[in-house]
Amino acid sequence: MSSIIDTLKKNNFRFNKQFGQNFITDQNLLRAIVDDAKITKDDVVVEIGPGAGTLTKEIAKKAKEVFSFEIDNNLAPILNETLQDCPNSTVIFKDFQKVDDEQLNQILNNREYKVVANLPYYITTPIIMKFIESTYPPKSITVMVQKEVAERLKSNALTSEIGAISLSIALYGDVEMTRVVSRKMFMPEPNVDSAVIRIDMQNKYDNIDKKPVKKLIKAAFNMRRKTFLNNISNAFNISKDRIKEVLKELNIDENIRGEAVSIDNYIAIAKKLGIN
Ligand code: SAM
Repeated sequence: MSSIIDTLKKNNFRFNKQFGQNFITDQNLLRAIVDDAKITKDDVVVEIGPGAGTLTKEIAKKAKEVFSFEIDNNLAPILNETLQDCPNSTVIFKDFQKVDDEQLNQILNNREYKVVANLPYYITTPIIMKFIESTYPPKSITVMVQKEVAERLKSNALTSEIGAISLSIALYGDVEMTRVVSRKMFMPEPNVDSAVIRIDMQNKYDNIDKKPVKKLIKAAFNMRRKTFLNNISNAFNISKDRIKEVLKELNIDENIRGEAVSIDNYIAIAKKLGIN
């Protein structure tokens, strides 16, 4: 797709590292990402960071409508050119971190939507958390992230790689890593490999008050080298004996570490300890 490179050159476009600009031009990869997202003609799609519009164009071919939020105004002439044959695509020049749920709801006319994005690395986790904790959440989130982040996010409990974020995400959705993408596929080439993940939002835990569970997870990961027991006892000022009792009731070893506790057990422990 040399025409994109020509368009960038013609417009004297300079990649802005600060905005995490690493573009994809490989047609097969772009199509594969849209396939991973399971986009159909009924879907309204939200994209963060269209860049030169290469992914946007592929989404527009498959979806009903696509709304893309781009922070960098310098991309306007390039996006105009790339998306001139995509009447179902709208680009909004705005920092997506500053778009609130109500604004998004108005833009999309309160319709259901899916997210597809080759995310700028510097805001991967805040953007994912913003969507999953939203009062107007999407049906699914398909995003390109750093490979090591993908591995952390898709891992289930009982692995040392798991972090507080992946546990929190498990409260809202099921994570699948759909493909690994070599750094060579990006322009300019970044220092790390990437992967595409899809989070399918589920409602398994819809009736659970998530706030105390998230507080418990945060406290458990407070000091990574300490045991779950010590972290929880310090954070909530609960006696170690009481916590040991609860862990015993749930058949959990009292020396367990935060990363080894499953999401279902976090929910059960929060309830038994009366965290609110
Ligand atoms: N989607 C394009 C592609 O796949 O080739 C570009 C992806 S590039 C990794 C990330 C894009 O997100 C850039 O165009 C960058 O300017 C944009 N961006 C960075 N921060 C943003 C923000 N806060 N809100 C909206 N767009 C942002």
